[in-house]
Amino acid sequence: MTIIAENLARIKERMAAAARRAGRDPESVRLVAVSKRVAVARIMEAMAAGQSLFGENYVQEACDKIERVGVGASWHFIGHLQSNKARAAAHHFEVIETVDSVKLARNLDRELTQQGKRQSIFIQVNVGKEPQKSGVLPEDLVGLARQLAAFTHLDVQGLMTMPPYCEDPEAMRPFFRALRLLAEELLAQQVLGHDHLELSMGMSADFEVAIEEGATLVRVGTALFGERD
Ligand SMILES: *Cc1c(COP(=O)(O)O)cnc(C)c1O
Repeated sequence: MTIIAENLARIKERMAAAARRAGRDPESVRLVAVSKRVAVARIMEAMAAGQSLFGENYVQEACDKIERVGVGASWHFIGHLQSNKARAAAHHFEVIETVDSVKLARNLDRELTQQGKRQSIFIQVNVGKEPQKSGVLPEDLVGLARQLAAFTHLDVQGLMTMPPYCEDPEAMRPFFRALRLLAEELLAQQVLGHDHLELSMGMSADFEVAIEEGATLVRVGTALFGERD
């Protein structure tokens, strides 16, 4: 077994245990293997071990890798998306997890209209209200979601967050819970026409707490691939 295969098995076990602790079906949580700055050969190793969903932060880097990896993998965009990269992003990613403004949505929708394609997106929420971070503020989420729902080529399927970093994963719990409550509010108000929203939250250091709080996707890089270059 390669180290990546061993890491993957261990992460899957921890994910399933966290789900069970919360009385959730382990099948309801998926792993996004974050492969930014990870070489294609190592991504292929993860694929050989059964992982098919990957997350990338940089459009340029990702497009190159996506083409080299080829069929069998699907990709989420989890980085900050610049408007001038909307075209390439819309072409390559199953989900763009980081939409946080009407301006970006409008650019994406325009590209998608030209490509004749519908795109799944998540809204990134700045749950910790950190000035330097991307994401819509919690109090502006419902308003943004209503505006995004009007774009014909965008389908808002979930929320994503990256809470303030904290050494102690327990300290992240209130932020994960806050994202789940925001999703419940959107569902209660029937803003998006879905009866379920994905929750993308939790990374290597805190994915178990995120799962206990309702994550349906955890984004794990270092724990799977090791330290990045
Ligand atoms: C890098 C990154 C991750 C993965 O972080 P690790 O700590 O390596 O698991 C998850 N989400 C986002 C948005 C990232 O940029």
